[in-house]
Amino acid sequence: MQNNFVVGVDIGGTNFRIGLVSEEGNLCSYIIQSSSILNKTGNSLISLKEYLLEYIKKNLSGELKAISIGLPSTISKDKKKVYSTPNLPGFNNVNVVDYLYNEIKVPIFLNKDVNCLLKWDMIDKGISKEGVTLGFYIGTGFGNSICINGEFLSGKNGVAGELGHIPVLNCNDICGCGNKGCIELYASGKTLRRIKEDNFKDTNISELFVRHKDSEVLKEFIEKISIPIATEINIFDPDNIIIGGGVVNMKGFPKPFLEECVYKHSRKPFPAEGLKFIYSSQTQESGVLGAAFKAMEELNQNQEGSFNSDSYR
Ligand SMILES: [Zn+2]
Repeated sequence: MQNNFVVGVDIGGTNFRIGLVSEEGNLCSYIIQSSSILNKTGNSLISLKEYLLEYIKKNLSGELKAISIGLPSTISKDKKKVYSTPNLPGFNNVNVVDYLYNEIKVPIFLNKDVNCLLKWDMIDKGISKEGVTLGFYIGTGFGNSICINGEFLSGKNGVAGELGHIPVLNCNDICGCGNKGCIELYASGKTLRRIKEDNFKDTNISELFVRHKDSEVLKEFIEKISIPIATEINIFDPDNIIIGGGVVNMKGFPKPFLEECVYKHSRKPFPAEGLKFIYSSQTQESGVLGAAFKAMEELNQNQEGSFNSDSYR
């Protein structure tokens, strides 16, 4: 019997990751490379299409059911158009889905990258779809995804969950989004680099927490990360809290202190009591797997496939 596949694509400002995920949930032909491949033709969308066609021709041995793409962007409610993507300017205001569908003729799915990550983390950690699961991903920026009873909150325009851009009063630094004083400017990997340059010039960034986690400046940084997390916990009273991203995965990152700070800023007795923190086992493949499984779920709902992400576990 011929196997069915979904192509999962995870595009970041730095890395481009792609793989084929089979009906049984197996990942194959996984490739990670520089996102600069999108500059090949001078038009990101055309470069992406040409790359996808070549990748499929070279690697697919079975039936292609869909292509599912995660981007670090705000995406329209119908999940076709990228509104804004500061790290990949070539996709700003572009209808990715209609273009690729017309060119490749398979269903195309487009999602915010953190929704793909949270999808994968929920499968990977065996988290029930019932209830509220919040995902916080602290990398270069501050990513957030909100899943309620298996549905990812999208809001009126599709852009819910821009937690990194909640404003901090009396802070006037300019954010990549154009606004002033977004919390992402003070609670992300970008900030951490600045802290290192200003305070620990001789320490390699990978050793920052190992060597200096008890310093006041890093404790203050961790507390700043806890503010948006506690804010959203106070709004949603979540069943599960997933925390991930490059900063949290650094060696020596003080998880207990972060949890202490989140507790401190959460309303007592609830939601503060019994907070359930789960740390993402994020790998380079997570975004590709999450994108693929998100598409499989939608194909199943439309009865266009028989994928079963539960069988994966
Ligand atoms: Zn902002």
